[in-house]
Amino acid sequence: MRIDIITVLPELLRSPFEHSILKRAIAKGLCEVNLINLRDYSTDKHKSVDDYMYGGGAGMVMMIEPIANCIEALQKERTYDEVIYTSPDGELLDQKASNSLSLKKNLIILCGHYKGIDERIRQHFITKEISIGDYVLSGGELAAAVISDSIIRLLPGVLSDETSALEDSFQDGLLAPPVFTRPAEFRGWKVPDVLLSGNFKEIDKWRHEKAIERTQERRPGLL
Ligand code: SAH
Repeated sequence: MRIDIITVLPELLRSPFEHSILKRAIAKGLCEVNLINLRDYSTDKHKSVDDYMYGGGAGMVMMIEPIANCIEALQKERTYDEVIYTSPDGELLDQKASNSLSLKKNLIILCGHYKGIDERIRQHFITKEISIGDYVLSGGELAAAVISDSIIRLLPGVLSDETSALEDSFQDGLLAPPVFTRPAEFRGWKVPDVLLSGNFKEIDKWRHEKAIERTQERRPGLL
């Protein structure tokens, strides 16, 4: 899979892909992530990418021309399954959406800034708009990192234990059960006996019960 992220702040986005699971996925060649500096596609000498809003009002708007040039340059090289714009008014990202995006081959993610992007970009270039929650961020970079992370960890071979993503919250419509590690007792607080029993059938049953209990308590709407 290839993810091309268009941003005015590539430096802001570097770190999430340089650690842990995402770093290993990229090193293993399971995924390629490119940070594309939108300013490289600006046509004026100041490399500007934003301008005042038509009709007046506070805040700048990202201009159509650099974004159109950038997307078209990428599309000349290969076909993209989706051109995604991160936006608070997009579809809310959930596990189902991440699962479905993880099956795609080439994705563009466009990060907005300021007041947003010229609406004509959304009308003519964007195929999917994704929000990561009902709150407003300063820019789309953190959203792009969240979207990419949730997709990349699903790619076959990325997680060392192949079943591990399947047991995460939401995958089976349930929240994940509680987890423990050594020591078995700390300040008198004990790990549930069943987890130390070595009886995997009982452990599976306990985990399933706890997952249902937790979902009922915290997210009954999922059941
Ligand atoms: N004026 C816009 C918000 C602009 S915030 C509005 O009210 O809808 C600047 C940029 O941050 C947006 O263009 C978008 O790319 C990104 N962004 C902000 N909140 C986001 C969210 N919840 N999910 C995804 N992207 C978001």
